[in-house]
Amino acid sequence: MPADSKFTKLRSELDLRRSRHLYRSTRVADSPQQPQRHIDGKPLLTFCSNDYLGLANHPAVIRAFQQAANTYGVGSGAAHLVNGHSRPHQQLEEALAAFTGRERALLFSTGYMANLGVVNALLTGRNDLVYADRLNHASLVDAALLSGAKLIRYPHNDTTSLGKRLLAHEGDAPTQLILTDGVFSMDGDVAPLAKLALMAQQHEAWLMVDDAHGFGVLGNTGAGLVEAAGLNQDDVPILMGTLGKALGTAGAFIAGSHDLIEYLIQTARTWIYTTAQPPAVAAATLVSLQLVATESWRREHLRSLIQQFRTGAVQLGLPLMPSDTAIQPMLVGSSEQALSISRKLEARGILVTAIRPPTVPVETARLRVTLSAAHTVEDVERLLDALGKA
Ligand code: PMP
Repeated sequence: MPADSKFTKLRSELDLRRSRHLYRSTRVADSPQQPQRHIDGKPLLTFCSNDYLGLANHPAVIRAFQQAANTYGVGSGAAHLVNGHSRPHQQLEEALAAFTGRERALLFSTGYMANLGVVNALLTGRNDLVYADRLNHASLVDAALLSGAKLIRYPHNDTTSLGKRLLAHEGDAPTQLILTDGVFSMDGDVAPLAKLALMAQQHEAWLMVDDAHGFGVLGNTGAGLVEAAGLNQDDVPILMGTLGKALGTAGAFIAGSHDLIEYLIQTARTWIYTTAQPPAVAAATLVSLQLVATESWRREHLRSLIQQFRTGAVQLGLPLMPSDTAIQPMLVGSSEQALSISRKLEARGILVTAIRPPTVPVETARLRVTLSAAHTVEDVERLLDALGKA
């Protein structure tokens, strides 16, 4: 074989992706995360951020970050157990536990790592069983695969099918885990948590909810889908929340019982063997958590924008999906068409990304609109007008 045949293989894979309209590339922003941004040199009104409450660019959050950088420097310098765990990390863990009504919380550097860490700490091998919703986020899928446990995927939100699978494997495994997104990241609908909690209890399985898109946004106080569903730590013993979305910063946490967190500290490899997030990120997150708790108008404004968008989209006959959350996808089908609509919107100064396989199943490409409390009524009117024309 010629010396560069391995690169020829990469190039042909890239070409294949281009020909299938599945090629992806990054854009470069020269402005903060906010609706009106400068991206690739152009002013664009964006509807694809997870900054659901408009906190990523909040002056008090930025100030806390700057002050903590002055006090603690930039990098944490080590893993938590070595000497990377600083006062802001400790305060944030305590604040997250109190906010979610749980005994303890543990900070992870990203949500992806939190999911890998917890699932692999709890499941120790081939004899264990993990039940996962078919539309779970990639990080939960990877977590389950990496664990080596038997992976049983059930149809999206179908608790009847899950029940049959749990019964069929009754007594088979030392540890069973039910894994679900809280708000499904590409669909915007929510998991039937109360039912899942009941089934987990009946079958003595762990239930873990990844509430990346619900934390901060759902529930009266913003504690997420578990709060909105009227449940608690006994019902959902493992709660994962991310900080890079509604909280506007970065990182993630697991909240649960004292024993669970102590167990993770001893065994979760993606927590033990990685550098702690910068202390300034934790300090900024503490402030943004206070804003989440005290400024409920952000959630109310977001809810009214969601309503405005859905009412307008129905009038235009757009293919909305059944979602009441800030994630409002429109199903297009073909990747080529989704890309073409996204480009037409961009020509009108509006950025909505086309989500294509493998992020979503084949032939279900979509335009994923996400709304934020930082948007105005006029922003949503502009979006609807552009969608009508595109
Ligand atoms: N879970 C879900 C449902 C997500 O949407 C994401 C982020 N896209 C993650 C986990 C990963 O979180 P992070 O970006 O903090 O790694």
